Order: sequence, then structure tokens, then C-alpha cells
Amino acid sequence: MSEAWTLNPDRLFSSDPTRRGLARRLYGEVQNLPIVGPHGHVPPGLIADPDATLGSPADLFIIPDHYVYRMLHSRGVAMEDLGVPTLDGTPVEADHRKIWQRFCEKFHLFRGTPTGLWLSEGLVGVFGVTEKPSAASAQRIYDHLEERLAGPEYVPRALFERFGVEVLCTTDAATDTLEHHASLRKDGWGERVRPTFRPDAVTDLSAPGWRGNVDRLSEVSGIDVVGYQSFLDALEQRRSFFEEMGAVATDHSATTPHTERLGEGEAEAIFARALAGSADVQDAARFTAHMLMEMARMSAEDGLVMQVHAGSLRNHHQAVYQRFGPDAGADIPVASDWTRGLRALLNERGDDPRFRLVVFALDEGAYSRELAPLAGHYPALLLGAPWWFFDSPLGMRRYLDAVIETAGLYNTAGFNDDTRAFVSIPSRHDVWRRVTCDWLAGMAVVGVIDEEDASEMAREFAHGLARKAYGLEREPVGRL
Ligand SMILES: [Zn+2]
Repeated sequence: MSEAWTLNPDRLFSSDPTRRGLARRLYGEVQNLPIVGPHGHVPPGLIADPDATLGSPADLFIIPDHYVYRMLHSRGVAMEDLGVPTLDGTPVEADHRKIWQRFCEKFHLFRGTPTGLWLSEGLVGVFGVTEKPSAASAQRIYDHLEERLAGPEYVPRALFERFGVEVLCTTDAATDTLEHHASLRKDGWGERVRPTFRPDAVTDLSAPGWRGNVDRLSEVSGIDVVGYQSFLDALEQRRSFFEEMGAVATDHSATTPHTERLGEGEAEAIFARALAGSADVQDAARFTAHMLMEMARMSAEDGLVMQVHAGSLRNHHQAVYQRFGPDAGADIPVASDWTRGLRALLNERGDDPRFRLVVFALDEGAYSRELAPLAGHYPALLLGAPWWFFDSPLGMRRYLDAVIETAGLYNTAGFNDDTRAFVSIPSRHDVWRRVTCDWLAGMAVVGVIDEEDASEMAREFAHGLARKAYGLEREPVGRL
């Protein structure tokens, strides 16, 4: 057998010795700072239930992680063979050892990708695996993981402590009753695991099952949604419930970042058509643009930070969507016009000291051309971390190159891991910390900033910016 599988301690640092030396020093200062994760998709039940386990190695690394199975799918592995559940319950592979074998046989597909880095760090760093996944090593690694996962140090709450997570925000539907968050609060975990209000399923008139979602909204809010005004009332009720449950932010997804305020009569008419089942695609697009304005208004009033993820044509692959549902790895970037798109919203709220907007983009050209200049002007606007395909070492470098010179560090919102894969949390933050430290070292060795600035900026990137952006300011609790 070849040598033990290890990770390069200088990974993602420059090969230039001066820059690398400084990058190492900066990284040493931030490596163990607590993790702040203001946006992500870890199921709250995983932390809420003290007896929850992470399941099998396939449950942990493959089945819920669309970054993993979209790559395997792209090289011809059927999602059914990876155990990804179907919407209609048609059976999929249930033998997790077989799923794991398939994954290990194809592990080479992740070479050079951020997913490859996260998987390697999870396996080596978190679980102490010493063999690289392959057809031959697959079952031995499975045995090793299974043994670890059965121990008390690998239950979600213990890992949460080990990872040093200070705050983790989940993403929850407007109609969610937040039972898991309620029990987290009872257990004293309410400040560490917080919900996020994501109302897309009711504000997007074209969302599947929209009518049923609105009925559910009536039910949980206690406000009978019979028209546009009662719809707004119900949303306000839900927002204040989320806030009581510890939420600090909302999140909104839109294919384009278009915002537009409709006249009251027009919004009412579109909403009435939707209730009657006769709204068309134009109605839905205009209503989404209008609801972004209304959500901004509500944010200014209740103080929840507004996040917008725009520029993703979701569910691109119809057959995959019909069989497996949303978030199945087929959300593909589209060109976005942020300058014109956000104009209405920023003119109404961009100067409002009560309002904060964090935007996430997938059109990289827009970072330097549109978003950094917008953030470099409007006080309310902060730029979110590189997202989805650009949550990667090179994506981060391009983002830093594109935005910092124009927007400055303090018009950005730090990092979030945006992950569904619990064990990838520390590795995702680690990649960001390494890349930002190396990037700052690069700026310092050519004298754009000095080493003192670089140190402070590294701490902001790793920890401070996210806390400031989401109003989570409090003394760091230290790595637990
Ligand atoms: Zn997300």
C-alpha cells in the first residue's frame, strides 16, 4: 500500500516563499477563530435532537450533498444508484455500502475541485481516514467511518462543539413552525442555532404547490389569506414569529435581481389572479420584483437583514427536477443585470439606516462591473461571499480581486458555508480562511497594505464581518 493519505499543511498558499510565510502567519492567527455561519442548509433537527446521529457514511457524505452527486451524475452515475430519494418514493439504492463503493470508485472525479478539498478535509481531518478513497479502499474506509460514527464524539452536537461553531443559521420556509428551534431554545442553544425566514414558496406565484402553501400560511399565521393585504399581514406575522425564535435574517431567491414597486391596485389584481389560478409567468415575475420591495420595507421596519440570492436558473434539468425535486445540483447561473435590477429597491431603501441588504451573485462579471460599485455607494448594501460554483479557491480569489478595490473590505459580509453537508462546515470555512490570508499576504508583500492591516483584515474576513453584517456582535466565545 502507498503512503498514508495526508493533507498539505500549506494548501492554497502561494509558492512564493515571502508571501507564503506571511500567509502562514496570518492563517495561524485566524485558523481557530469560532465559526459564524449566517446562511446554510443544515437541518435544525440534527442539532435539536441530542440523540440524533449522522447516519451511515453515505448519509453523511453523499446522499444529501448535491455538490457531490451532481458531479457523479455528470459522469454517468445514476442518482438512484447513489441513494438520492425520489419525490414519488420509487425505490433507490438502499445498500449504503454499495453507494459508498460507487462513490469511492469515482473519487478521482473530484480532483482539483473544491468538493474534493472539502471531502478530503472531512475524511482526513474530521474522521482520521488515512487511505485515499478508491475501489480497493472503499470498504475499509466505510468500516473505519462506521466505527467512528458510532462513538459519542461523532454525534452532531459534539461535532458542533469540536468545529467551534459560534452561530449557525438554518434556512426555513415561511410556513415552518420551527419546533426544532423551539427545543434548541429550551436546551440553551437558541443563540447558536437560529432560523432564517425564506418565503419563496409563498411569494413566488409560480412555485409548485403555491395555492397549498398559501393555505398553510393562513393556518400557521392565524390570518385568513383572502387577498393581497391579508397576505402581507400574514407574512408580517410570520416574520415576527421568526424573530422571536431568534432569526436575524430573511433570504430570498429570484432568477433575476429585478425589483419594481407595483401600484397597490396592480399588486392586488395579480394576487387575486393567482388565488383564482389564472396568474401567468409575467404576473409571477412582476410580483416577485414587487415582493422584494415589500420585503425590504418589512426589513427596515423589523430589522431582519435581507439576503437575496439571484442569478440562478433553478431546476434547469426538467427530468431531474420532476424525479428528485429542487436543489438537486441543476441550478445553473444566468447573466444578471444588478445595476438596473436593484435600482428601484436601492432608491427606496439604499440609504435607510434601518435596512441592510446582503446579495449573492452567480454572474461573476457583475462583481466588478456592477456589484462592487453599487456596494461602494449605497450604505445599505453589502456583498455576500462567493456562492455555489464560486465557493471555491479560485472563485474566492476572483471575487476578492473583483470587489475589494472598489467596495472595500467593510462593504462585504464575510463568509457563509451555505452547506447541506454538516461535516463540510469546518473545511469550507478553512478554505476561505486560507485563501483570504494568502490574498492579503499578496497585498502586503507588494505594499498595498501593511502587515498590521493584513492581520486585522484576516480576522474580519474569518469572523468579524459576518457578525457585523448580521448583527451578531458579541464577544467571541473562543474555540470550544
Ligand atoms: Zn443557500
